[in-house]
Amino acid sequence: MISNRTAGPPDQAKLYDRSVSCLEATDPIAVEACPVCCAEQAVPRFEISGCASQLVVCADCGLGRLHPIPDSETIRALYPDYYYGSPGTKFRTSIEKLVRIVGRRQCRFIAKSLTGSARVLDVGCGRGVMLSAMADLGFEVHGTDISKLATQGVDPRAEIRIAPNLSDALYPESYFDVVVIWHVLEHLRNPRETLEEIHRVLRPGGRIVVAVPNFSSLQARLTGSAWFHLDLPRHLFHFPLHSLRRILTEVGFDPGQDYHFSLRQNPFGWIQSILNRIPGLQRNGLYSLLHRNMIDGRPRFGTRLALGFVLTALIPPALLATVVGTVFRRGATVHIEAIRLERK
Ligand SMILES: [Zn+2]
Repeated sequence: MISNRTAGPPDQAKLYDRSVSCLEATDPIAVEACPVCCAEQAVPRFEISGCASQLVVCADCGLGRLHPIPDSETIRALYPDYYYGSPGTKFRTSIEKLVRIVGRRQCRFIAKSLTGSARVLDVGCGRGVMLSAMADLGFEVHGTDISKLATQGVDPRAEIRIAPNLSDALYPESYFDVVVIWHVLEHLRNPRETLEEIHRVLRPGGRIVVAVPNFSSLQARLTGSAWFHLDLPRHLFHFPLHSLRRILTEVGFDPGQDYHFSLRQNPFGWIQSILNRIPGLQRNGLYSLLHRNMIDGRPRFGTRLALGFVLTALIPPALLATVVGTVFRRGATVHIEAIRLERK
């Protein structure tokens, strides 16, 4: 359903400015079976203001997730129209240009082993940053998303299907050479079902490229409840690297190398997470400032002044920390390319 665009965010609907606090250590509690390891025990870790669910951590595999998982209507309300920015652009102009330059670089990397006629699907394609770059490289590009509004302004060379779940997009079996699911898996109510559907629509020997925030990263461990990439409560699942590799293997993929360097995600994650630790600053205020629609309102004057000084000082250490995270395979975000195997 296409909804009408609203002029801007109402004050009461804070998208990114929600406080997250650590819970005192307790014994594990009973939860629904973990989608990675099926364990039914998890340890409460964080609570989120204005949210009935807590972030709990699987007692066996370490997967973080919201408990309970909010119902579909509650999740839909977390993505109001202004979340998507304007047609074809989510951030302010200079940032959007930067995002697209880095997106093109990522696509060239992903495309290294593809032939020119390859058929590529981007799951949760949004405004199509990757689709556009892939089309420039000569590939046949397809995208799917839950929101028609999110895909407005997408490159006309892409064939887009709007569907609540990937299986509802009704792609034929063994249809794609590559499926990209880039920072989307963590938003889904049932990530295992989606990975199984990706397995079905990929040709044997085809590749899945999956990127998520890394719950076992240095950034996640050192910044705790202030970690920018928690993005609570929109991120329903929080994958440590080993859990991501495990679920891919169980669904029928052969995960290859994992990649930990992301200029698009990781230095910013350090900067915003550190800012989130400073008392009195609006949580994720810098991110709100960069968003096209200035989500959560124009940050307070004190916030803007502090941002100017602190940002300048934080860029060099953030870049250094990004390199350190990469060297130790503990990047704040991670992407894996995995080969689709035949199921036994
Ligand atoms: Zn688990």
